[in-house]
Amino acid sequence: MRRRVILLGPPGSGKGTVAARLKNECGFDHFSTGHWLRQEVARGSALGRQAGLFLERGELVPDEVVLALVKDALSNAQPDLGYLSDGFPRTLAQAQAFDAWSSPRGLGIEQVIYFECSEALVLNRITGRRSCGSCGRVYHVTLVPPGQPGRCDDCAGELTQRADDTESVVRKRFKIYLRETEPLIDFYRQQAKLDVVNASQPVDVMMSQTMSLLQR
Ligand code: ADP
Ligand code: AMP
Repeated sequence: MRRRVILLGPPGSGKGTVAARLKNECGFDHFSTGHWLRQEVARGSALGRQAGLFLERGELVPDEVVLALVKDALSNAQPDLGYLSDGFPRTLAQAQAFDAWSSPRGLGIEQVIYFECSEALVLNRITGRRSCGSCGRVYHVTLVPPGQPGRCDDCAGELTQRADDTESVVRKRFKIYLRETEPLIDFYRQQAKLDVVNASQPVDVMMSQTMSLLQR
């Protein structure tokens, strides 16, 4: 199985949901730049203060900030260590800079799985998304509900709605996705690293198709 993998797709396409399952079921080392940035904001660190406004407005955090975060996290990694990234890279500049940094270190991306999905679907999924404040597990009020409303099945933490998951911010994030992130599809297709999963299918189907692609 390939071990250095990127999940690419619009916000709400199910990257975090599938990544969490791949982590549990296949032992992938999953990282999410969005999750890291939210942690920095919650901690009130200098980086968090710098990034907070971008997150609130649904805009991308500057490339150099995100790249520094990822390089720092991977800098002590063993060349044969795997990773599963959800939410990075998100611009062509990030993708190119990460290729240049990671390849000589033996940490280059091996496979990119693109979760293809429409704006209407994304809007419904994100506005119903609820996340656990303690462990980060993600639910949906109707599509992926917790056993007990408002409480995480795993740790009983409180489920809350992200400040950037409102309809107007999601529409903006989708526009930014089309402009900044969608070009990565061709970028990775040209590198013969791209596989596509139809993200409008149920989670279990997305999961099994992703697993088969990872085992090719
Ligand atoms: P992303 O990480 O791509 O932003 P998430 O994994 O957080 O997306 O999923 C967005 C929302 O959609 C969540 O509320 C999640 O529970 C729900 N969801 C994810 N995948 C599916 C799916 N295949 N079918 C139905 N709902 C889904
Ligand atoms: P996510 O959790 O992936 O939905 O990301 C939430 C927010 O974090 C995004 O709307 C951006 O503001 C920021 N963010 C996450 N990853 C990146 C990235 N690779 N580049 C720039 N901003 C990012």
